[in-house]
Amino acid sequence: MSFEPLLPPATLGVVGGGQLGRMFGVAARRLGYGLVVLDPTPDCPAAAVADHQIVAGYDDLDAARELGQRADRITFEFENAPASTLAALAENVPVRPRPEVLEICRHRVREKHFLRENGFPVGRHAPIANADALREQVEALGPAILKRALGGYDGKGQSRIQNGAEAGRAWEAIGAPTSTDGLEPAVLEQFVAFQREVSVIVARGADDATEVFPVFQNDHTDGILDVTRMPAEIPAERADEARDLALRIARALNVVGLLTVEMFDDGNRFLVNELAPRPHNSGHVTIEAAVTCQFEQHVRALCDLPLGSPDAVSPGAMANLLGERWGTT
Ligand code: AMP
Repeated sequence: MSFEPLLPPATLGVVGGGQLGRMFGVAARRLGYGLVVLDPTPDCPAAAVADHQIVAGYDDLDAARELGQRADRITFEFENAPASTLAALAENVPVRPRPEVLEICRHRVREKHFLRENGFPVGRHAPIANADALREQVEALGPAILKRALGGYDGKGQSRIQNGAEAGRAWEAIGAPTSTDGLEPAVLEQFVAFQREVSVIVARGADDATEVFPVFQNDHTDGILDVTRMPAEIPAERADEARDLALRIARALNVVGLLTVEMFDDGNRFLVNELAPRPHNSGHVTIEAAVTCQFEQHVRALCDLPLGSPDAVSPGAMANLLGERWGTT
């Protein structure tokens, strides 16, 4: 099968116009594409670099169809769009990554099933239906982290738990979620005593061309990414192992676009923590420190252009400064 590139001045649509949507938009613009963004907040960050913003909720199907009419290809800055929106987006225009990929990556229980069924290494964990199941499972797993299956990020929707006596408190702390889709609404993960956290970003085209960025090493504070270093301080053969693992996951998922794989490194092996089928905060370091940045790579995969080189031009580091540091006036 041959893939005809979608050339500028075609228009790309992005669902979500925050920081990542804006940086994607800057890369799209630089390559000559038009940009339409769907975001409920008027004048969202990406609006400043877009031709047009559709101001509407992510559950507004008319707005999703409008995006599909205005854009030639659609992508996302996050994976939480409702399934009905994904279907409406895909009616008229290619959506990358495919809605099935987003469905897996946005739900921690489904994501863990996918990883396990495909033989990828994950830490010990248990899907959790309610506080009683939590009490039982924490006795089996020992010190652990309880995570909401849907909608949590940056350590939000998570609670550490040591034993069964804390089950009620931990369940309330993550908002006592209920199941809406036949899957358990939370997952309990055994606490991993890792030496370091790393992430690997894979770019994959529809023709199965792939490029893998160097391994990033990530320091978190309170569950939030603080500093990323590229390359990670690990031997070359272990870096190859991490990159190969991420590549195999991207192929198994049949991702087109970017896949970020967050992993724990216990010194001997890597355990997959989380998947994100999109540009990632840890990948910002590629803007200055790689030949092709993660956002341009995403545009290239989306449009069937040849992927660029992911090689480092120098070692790099990124400090993650959150907006609230600047306060409000
Ligand atoms: P997450 O939202 O799943 O990426 O979790 C945020 C951060 O919490 C991670 O980057 C880790 O620093 C920490 N964390 C999450 N899960 C675990 C785990 N099972 N064991 C140890 N630390 C964890």
